[in-house]
Amino acid sequence: MAKVRVGVAGYGTIGQRLADGADLQEDMELVGVADVKPTLGVQALAERGMPYNLFAAIPGAADDLAAAGIPVSGEFDDLLNSVDVMLDATGAGIGAKNKEKYVEHGLKAVFQGGESGKIADVFFHNANYEKGVGQDFLKLTSCNTSGLIRAVDGLDRTIGLERVAITIIRRVADPGDTYRGLVDVLEMDPIPNHQAVDLMEIMPHISATGLLVHTPVTHGHIITIVATPKRTSTKAEVLEAFDADPRVRVVKIADGFNSNTSLFQYGRMLGKPRGDLYEIGLFDETIGMSGDDIMFAINIPQESVVIPETMDAVRAAVPMQTEASEATALTNKYLGLV
Ligand code: NAD
Repeated sequence: MAKVRVGVAGYGTIGQRLADGADLQEDMELVGVADVKPTLGVQALAERGMPYNLFAAIPGAADDLAAAGIPVSGEFDDLLNSVDVMLDATGAGIGAKNKEKYVEHGLKAVFQGGESGKIADVFFHNANYEKGVGQDFLKLTSCNTSGLIRAVDGLDRTIGLERVAITIIRRVADPGDTYRGLVDVLEMDPIPNHQAVDLMEIMPHISATGLLVHTPVTHGHIITIVATPKRTSTKAEVLEAFDADPRVRVVKIADGFNSNTSLFQYGRMLGKPRGDLYEIGLFDETIGMSGDDIMFAINIPQESVVIPETMDAVRAAVPMQTEASEATALTNKYLGLV
């Protein structure tokens, strides 16, 4: 099978990582990325010698980019004429406009969590892979929801779950989002948070609710989960289920993984580009039982967590694989998740 040709619209926080992720997939070809101005990400791409071709995403952008000394490979239409699937990681709402172009060019596309639900045929996660098979427009779950479902799905497949109650301690901004201002507040959202509602859309057999606290930090969300199993279980069984999933990194507080930042720091120490970990972090010593209920806490690296599932989304949409297990194994292999 010929390589599936992929393009990325929006070379921001998520787009940069999607480009790296697609470039690593040996059965995909990253044709290029598109943006509208010489952002820091675009400037860094140029300083790195343009490892990816850059296309001007809107009329006039080519001039602005050229004026900043950024080499441009063509206009948006040139990129759209050369790909099979677009990964749209533009700011929320822009994807809806871009979708008109994707339809015009007969392309498939994967949108990110900030877009309206109406944009896609399927709200996608690896946990409902089969619903995405052969579909044209997929929208990925948000960063929190993606990590949350990864953990819940793992336990559901092994132990079986009835319901979950979650608390999200949500990082309020990404590093560099100075427009969010300097803040010192913990802001409450009413229940149910959208992540619980989204979980029920992807996994309708599980009842979910939860609350969310916006927290003035930038490196990772923490989610605590209380899961009600269909049968009595043990910590050892829970741990075994998480250990078996390459997209979950089980860490120990006793080993120094005692915070959101310890995982971020560890990614940097491993020499990962930008310090990115694709795995959610699961704190071993937070796993415990409340009666039969299973309680635990996870860390979500919000900037990189959606990359594996977005690669799965490409695999489903084309379709490159019709079985979730085959797609997951390939995405994991190429991302170095073992
Ligand atoms: P971002 O602001 O970091 O990046 C958006 C990029 O799109 C910028 O580089 C911008 O210049 C570019 N852009 C703007 N208009 C464009 C156009 N018409 N065509 C092409 N490029 C254009 O945003 P982000 O944080 O990467 O978020 C992208 C999407 O991913 C959103 O839907 C967001 O909700 C979702 N998401 C974000 C995170 C996160 O932690 N940042 C996590 C998961 C999902």
